[in-house]
Formats: sequence, C-alpha cells, structure tokens
Amino acid sequence: MSLAAGSTIGIIGGGQLGRMLAISAARLGYRTIVLELQPDCPAAQVANRQIVAAYDDPAALAELAAASTVVTYEFENVPVAAANALATKVPVYPPARALEVAQDRVAEKTFLNGIGIPTADFRAVDDDAGLTAALKAFSGNGVLKTRRMGYDGKGQRVFRNMETGGFAGTCEAMGNVPLILEAFVPFEREISVIAARGIDGSVAAYDPAENIHRHGILHSSTLPAGVAPATASAAKDAAAKILSALDYVGVIGVEFFVLADGSLLANEMAPRVHNSGHWTEAAATVSQFEQHIRAVAGLPLGDPGRHSDCVMENLIGDDVLRVPALLAEPDVMLHLYGKAEARPGRKMGHFTRISRRN
Ligand code: AMP
Repeated sequence: MSLAAGSTIGIIGGGQLGRMLAISAARLGYRTIVLELQPDCPAAQVANRQIVAAYDDPAALAELAAASTVVTYEFENVPVAAANALATKVPVYPPARALEVAQDRVAEKTFLNGIGIPTADFRAVDDDAGLTAALKAFSGNGVLKTRRMGYDGKGQRVFRNMETGGFAGTCEAMGNVPLILEAFVPFEREISVIAARGIDGSVAAYDPAENIHRHGILHSSTLPAGVAPATASAAKDAAAKILSALDYVGVIGVEFFVLADGSLLANEMAPRVHNSGHWTEAAATVSQFEQHIRAVAGLPLGDPGRHSDCVMENLIGDDVLRVPALLAEPDVMLHLYGKAEARPGRKMGHFTRISRRN
C-alpha cells in the first residue's frame, strides 16, 4: 500500500540531503517533519516542521513517530538504538540493520565479503602493536581509518612503504578509538552506484558515476564513468545484491575502486541518498531524492535512465563565489543549500553541467 497524499514523512537529520528529500517529498504531495538539533537547518527551511532535538532524544523520537506515517534518515550515523525504538511504532526505512552494517567499517567489509562482494584486505587495529603487525602483513602500505563516524576523509592516515614499525603514539593520535587498517588499493579510478529498492523488492540502479576526491571530499562526479560496460554492470549488480541482502527499502550509495583490469573492490556504502548521485536531479527524469521518497512511500520506482551526460561539481567553502558566473552559463543546474556561512570545507551547494544530450 502506498502512502496517501498529504501524509507526513519524518526525516532524521537536517542537512542538505534532508533538504533535497523534503523538496522531492513536497513535489509528490507529502509533508515532512525534520528532527535536527540545529534550528533553521537546511532541511527545516523547506520542510513543514522541525523538532529541534538530538537524534537520540526519547521524547523527540516519540514525537517524530506520532507525527509521521513513515520515518527515514539522511545520514548514516543515526543511533541504531534510536532507529530500532522508532521502528516499534512506525515503519523506518532503510532498515536499522543497514545502519548497523554501514556504521562500522569492519562490520561493513565483513558483510560485503560475506555476500561475495570483494573489498580491500583489512585488519581491525586497536593499538600500535596491532598496527605494526597489520602494516607488516600489507607490506608497509595501507590506509588507517577510524572504524566508526568517519566521513569525507576525516580520521584517516595513509602509510606508504612503512614496513619497519616505529608507529608509537599513532593510535593515541587517532583518538584511541577502534581502527581499521585497509590494504592500500592501487586503483585506476573511483566510481559509485546509486540504487534503490522498493517495498515490493523491485530494484533500480543508475549508471555509475566517476568520482574525483580532493582532500578526502568529493569534488566531482562525471557521467558516464570511464569504465567498460562489464564493469558498470558489475557495479550495479553488486549494489542490487547489497539491497536484497539487507531487505532494504530506499536509496543506497555504494563506492567502488576500479582496478587496472576493470575489476572492482567495494570501498563503502551509505544507507541514504549520496553526494555522488546529485547529478540525477539534472540528467535523469527521476532524481535519487524522488526515487528515495517513492521507495519509502511504497510508490513504484522511477526509471533510472539518464537522458544526458553531465558533470556534477560540489561548491565547497568560498567556491560559492562562483555562483554568478555559473548562472550565466547555459546548461548548468545550480543547487544551494541555504547555509549562511561559507566555512572552509563546508559543502555550500553543487551544480551539474550538462555536457551532451543523449
Ligand atoms: P573513504 O572515507 O573510505 O571513502 O576514503 C576517502 C578516500 O580515500 C577514498 O575515496 C579514496 O580516494 C582514498 N582511499 C580510501 N581507502 C583507500 C584504500 N584502501 N586504498 C587507497 N585509497 C583509499
């Protein structure tokens, strides 16, 4: 059964992803209520209502459940306990299990490998001795990351040709939190797939985007990605496998490393709409945001086909000064997030430049 027009969709998290979800929900005739501690957040500016509270505030969660017919979220660090508590009162999509898997890089890689999706080799690291042993196993090359709460390259350290040890203090410098050492992947390019699964189990995957990161933050996504058709299909198939294994409802973003022979290693998955899918607003009939709302509302999924080739670029910090020039260009779709202050590293908006109509 699909959600009746005028129903309210609860959104946990008030950033730009929530904002774009709320806009799409409104276009489909739904209301939205946003749970977010920061008042007048990007999502609340376009939603019907905001509950100003923390994501794990029991009274706020009860209020959100009472006011919503279905609840979703816009970021992967929603406490699993909060999602489970909500799910006893109201459907929560994607399922809490997806959060559990995506919140811990060791759990995530173990899950992916368990369903036959290869990743970089990895070792859980809890102290400097463990780091020394893990680096030895990976011939001195690896990427050390926090297991939890890492995003946009934060909490990461790269080791190259460091087989001999001498890492005393590294784990302390990383905050004495559980870590993971991943083998260094000599990738040729990075791609990601945005895919959705409906309540009826139907799956729709967009073509993979080729992503460039700068300082650990996504800089641009280009369509089509420069990969062979077999590689693009393999990436879509892997995303579909993840969705089915989790009995997922909603949109997921899955990032992959592409090796020289065209084979793939999954890097990470985000149980939500994803920055590398923003191009879908401009170059697909149904955007990832509408697709997500369709999925959680029990509506049929839209065709993920792409009518144009394009490049999406993020506007980070002072990049917003480019806005007047971008608006003067033909074939540019601009999206700003309503953030007042342009701090360095802060995602202020993005634009998609159509490069060719197919
Ligand atoms: P992540 O936060 O895991 O998405 O990592 C941020 C970026 O760091 C990735 O997009 C890659 O460019 C790079 N990176 C992460 N893990 C590895 C790895 N195991 N080997 C090589 N580069 C990596």
